[in-house]
Amino acid sequence: MKFTDLKLISPILKALEKESYTEPTPIQAQAIPAALEGRDVLGCAQTGTGKTAAFSIPIIQRLSSQGGKPQGKRRIRSLILTPTRELAIQIEDNIRAYSQFTDIRCFSIVGGVSQRAQEIQLARGMDILIATPGRLIDLINQKHADLQHVEILVLDEADRMLDMGFINDVKKIMARIPAKKQTLFFSATMPPEISRLVDSLLHDPVTVEI
Ligand code: AMP
Repeated sequence: MKFTDLKLISPILKALEKESYTEPTPIQAQAIPAALEGRDVLGCAQTGTGKTAAFSIPIIQRLSSQGGKPQGKRRIRSLILTPTRELAIQIEDNIRAYSQFTDIRCFSIVGGVSQRAQEIQLARGMDILIATPGRLIDLINQKHADLQHVEILVLDEADRMLDMGFINDVKKIMARIPAKKQTLFFSATMPPEISRLVDSLLHDPVTVEI
């Protein structure tokens, strides 16, 4: 299997070539076609399996104008929630790399840094927001972040978000996102509370296990 077998648009293929990615990892080979079709995905995968590209590439393709979507006013059309600052920055770096030849704009919002710069970026607009739950709740409550136009939601490392005590924040954020959306859900383990969240959030998901 090659990336060229996955029906990806040429700006993404060009970026992957530049990153010297030749073959999709197993999780990418399974998750990318399902996510491109608009299906919900449940991925049981750890860091190191290539899961970031597995969810990022379909989002970039579905949201970029080259992927067929006309570009109107820039609103947050994809939200990626992840437990730590390091993961958020890593995801942002990866998305920047994979989307470098598209018109997609992404930005990450994490705690522990000045909020003002994040407010300015939110006012400018972006297509993809990567966030840790705590700081995002603050920005939503202060009306800086509007999630009413989210079409694709990613929960990354959901079990770690549970372990770190973010599950109530995650549920509050879910309440701000339209019910009709595509959800890509990744967790290394499936404890009962995560299974319940999966059952309430995902519709007929394609399950991808590594
Ligand atoms: P992740 O599991 O998303 O943290 O990815 C682990 C590492 O593998 C990252 O450094 C990626 O840049 C790299 N990577 C992801 N997919 C591929 C691929 N198909 N070919 C080569 N490297 C990859």
